[in-house]
Amino acid sequence: MRIPVIKTVREMQSRCERLRLGGHRIALVPTMGALHAGHLALIREARKHADTVLASIFVNPTQFGEGEDLNRYPRRLSQDVEALADVGGVDAVFAPDVGEMYPTGAETNGDTTWVEVTGLDAHLCGRYRPDHFRGVTTVVAKLFHACKPHTAVFGLKDAQQFVIIRRMVRDLLMDIDVVGVPTVRAEDGLALSSRNEYLSPEQRQQALVIPQAVFQASEQIGLGEQQIGPIVESIRKKLAESPLARVQYAEVVDADSLQPVARLEPGMEALVAVAAYFGDTRLIDSAFVRVP
Ligand code: AMP
Repeated sequence: MRIPVIKTVREMQSRCERLRLGGHRIALVPTMGALHAGHLALIREARKHADTVLASIFVNPTQFGEGEDLNRYPRRLSQDVEALADVGGVDAVFAPDVGEMYPTGAETNGDTTWVEVTGLDAHLCGRYRPDHFRGVTTVVAKLFHACKPHTAVFGLKDAQQFVIIRRMVRDLLMDIDVVGVPTVRAEDGLALSSRNEYLSPEQRQQALVIPQAVFQASEQIGLGEQQIGPIVESIRKKLAESPLARVQYAEVVDADSLQPVARLEPGMEALVAVAAYFGDTRLIDSAFVRVP
């Protein structure tokens, strides 16, 4: 099956308007392309919520900071569209260029309209990637306006992104269901990510300490450990087994507020989150855990 690739906001909006008038339900899966099995799981989930599934492929410049990998981020639109056609489940791809999404410019320090969820972006990744989440929420809001979805599907791998988008939708009264999909992993446990392809074989091997640290911490919480100190200590110990890992953060926070907590309380949802560099490649992993 050939999948239509729509390049302009105007065409996307008029198609989606017609679909809505025809009584269709639309689900959107926003991506930056370089698709892997994680993205495909989002598409399968989207299908459960809608009869029309749209995937967007857009490498959003405003969520990359200075010195980050905007220029080398993998871009292979035609290959991605072919892969989507092979697996099925997507009715159309929205693949705008930068000028289409940012008609007045995409300078991160320029005068334009931003959507910003303040507070939640002060923690975890947000502490080290200033303006990253402002770029994410701004582009996701624009994608929502272009694609008019009833449901939008995101990966829980990007845990902070998920929490922030859910808050944006709630705070801005957007009539959209936000659905999260558990992290899809390689057989050895590493979370699939378009950035894994930057890793050397040695880095790829050592990167396994990240999921191992996250699993171990989740297990500790599941077994009743309520003190944050020992949990974080064992995460750091596991990460230290890799000489190549440069840890950026290792934290256990409240999953709703993303605030650090001194102690886990029964019934609360905790988020275990880790970010580490292997060479220039920054990897993240996380797990939402209900405290027993
Ligand atoms: P990206 O293309 O990396 O911006 O990701 C697009 C969407 O796919 C986001 O909602 C991600 O959270 C999600 N995603 C990326 N990797 C995975 C994974 N391994 N498992 C599940 N979802 C993922």
